[in-house]
Amino acid sequence: MKRALITGIGGQDGSFLAEHLMKLGYEVHGIARGLVYENLKALVGVTIHVADVRDRVSLENVFRKVWPDEVYNLAGQVFVPTSWSLPEDTFDINVGGLTRMLTIIESLKRDTKIYQASSSEMFGNQHGALSEESPMVPTSPYGVSKYAAHLLCEVYRRRGLFVTAGILFNHEGTRRGTHMVTRKISKHVAAWATGHTRIPLELGNMNARRDWGNAADYVEAMHLMMCQSSPDDYVIGTGESHTVKEFLVEAVKVAGLDWEEQKKYVKTESKTFARTGEIWNLTADYNKAKVILGWEPKTTFKELVALMVAHDISEIRERERIYSTVSV
Ligand code: GDP
Repeated sequence: MKRALITGIGGQDGSFLAEHLMKLGYEVHGIARGLVYENLKALVGVTIHVADVRDRVSLENVFRKVWPDEVYNLAGQVFVPTSWSLPEDTFDINVGGLTRMLTIIESLKRDTKIYQASSSEMFGNQHGALSEESPMVPTSPYGVSKYAAHLLCEVYRRRGLFVTAGILFNHEGTRRGTHMVTRKISKHVAAWATGHTRIPLELGNMNARRDWGNAADYVEAMHLMMCQSSPDDYVIGTGESHTVKEFLVEAVKVAGLDWEEQKKYVKTESKTFARTGEIWNLTADYNKAKVILGWEPKTTFKELVALMVAHDISEIRERERIYSTVSV
């Protein structure tokens, strides 16, 4: 039985990947900073180790317990605005975490394969659909940290380690953090749809375009990359981009609400949400993944919006049901 170790298992991608690997028959171990993670509730059979990618000793201790065949390095400071407030922390986690893991693998078990979560934010503002060969000119500390880690992958690859990098474009779903724009919208629209129609929604740049895919599809690509005979870089996306406004209008529609009515309650709050170094458009060219990995996204943009909104509506209804059955 293959053993996988996932850093950041409490996050959206970590929990989806753990479920996927369990289905494939892996023994799955995860590193989390604490044991209280909403996303881990469903992960029966996964062993959670308390450790931190900023703490080399804790990482090495876990590595010596698990002796993994595969490491998926998904732990990260993922929110671009936070990388401006906490740039050093962002580097320590996003670059330092990978560095520690690579040196542990190199000294303890060189045949362990490692997957690095690279990001479309590495590209910065480019034109057209972006492939593994496109220029990378990141515009935020987050983007620079991911680019530095990405370069480190290539450096260690040349030293003989199996280090593969998935350049994932934005990927969302029902476990997405609520500070990311898609989940912020789906939760808000769900509140509207369940009767709170006048609560204002404040957003930043509604004209930014992203290539939004389903995180559950993307973890399958991570595993396929690790099944190859040699490590490489792969862009993972859908090839389609949509604006934040398009996501919002679609969410309102699938919730059964009227956009003309709801738009009165949408406000632009540039002071809080506008970004230094905003990236205006990200669209993936995932042809290499399609040809070599045989991977393609399974979920359309509309399906993604619908599944997020439906989930957030049912969560509210379930909470209401529980409260209504509690007698006071
Ligand atoms: P990112 O692409 O990794 O930065 O993912 P986000 O979901 O945080 O942001 C995606 C895009 O939505 C960016 O271009 C943001 O500027 C834009 N955006 C507009 N309003 C908001 C908002 O209220 N919150 C967030 N997080 N992003 C917003």
